[in-house]
Amino acid sequence: MGQSILIVEDEEKIARFIELELLHEGYEVEKSQDGRDGLSKAQSGRFDLMILDVMLPGLNGFEVLRRLRKDSGLPVIMLTARDAVMDKVAGLDGGADDYMTKPFAIEELLARIRLALKKGSGPDGAGKGTVLECGALTLDTLKYEARYDGKLVELTHREFELLRVLLENKNIVVSRDTLLQKVCGYDYLGETNVIDVYVRYVRAKLDDVYQVKMIQTVRGVGYVIRDGERDI
Ligand code: CA
Repeated sequence: MGQSILIVEDEEKIARFIELELLHEGYEVEKSQDGRDGLSKAQSGRFDLMILDVMLPGLNGFEVLRRLRKDSGLPVIMLTARDAVMDKVAGLDGGADDYMTKPFAIEELLARIRLALKKGSGPDGAGKGTVLECGALTLDTLKYEARYDGKLVELTHREFELLRVLLENKNIVVSRDTLLQKVCGYDYLGETNVIDVYVRYVRAKLDDVYQVKMIQTVRGVGYVIRDGERDI
């Protein structure tokens, strides 16, 4: 309880509507109408989640996200214009945890907020933490930290969840459908190829940097992380 949500949205009617719903659900809420102001609020560490519009005065949503991600894993749900596929791709690329297309059903936004908060490193996760590992890769699910050879690998929540599911099923091929459900949630309604997108992001941050092949593609089935030879 008492989780705090920041809404960065310049359309006052939409911001107010979301605020009322969130207050009704028992969240604490603060609003910002400007990208620059929203960024500094998000960086304050006072919030558990941010709802971020793309089109904003000051700094646009993508730029806010890009700057925030330099030193924060704060869960972010982006609001994008209708059918703006490029927005979605750019949002995921920039480290958003999820996105909603306007206009949206408030129930869906609330469900995605609950999911994003659950996936976060909040007090709910305390005590359940364990360290998963495969070769030089370790995942501390309590601290929400991924390391390769002891060096920190910066991941978004969903990238982390992807590695978590694969490591929990080490040596077992996990289907795209299972990954989609476990990483994005059962109520996920977006594109199904989103898992391939996350795999690409993780490979760029891990495989390309350390010259290894952690996540293996099993054509037509899914993905697997195996013990053993990984050097390329
Ligand atoms: Ca706007």
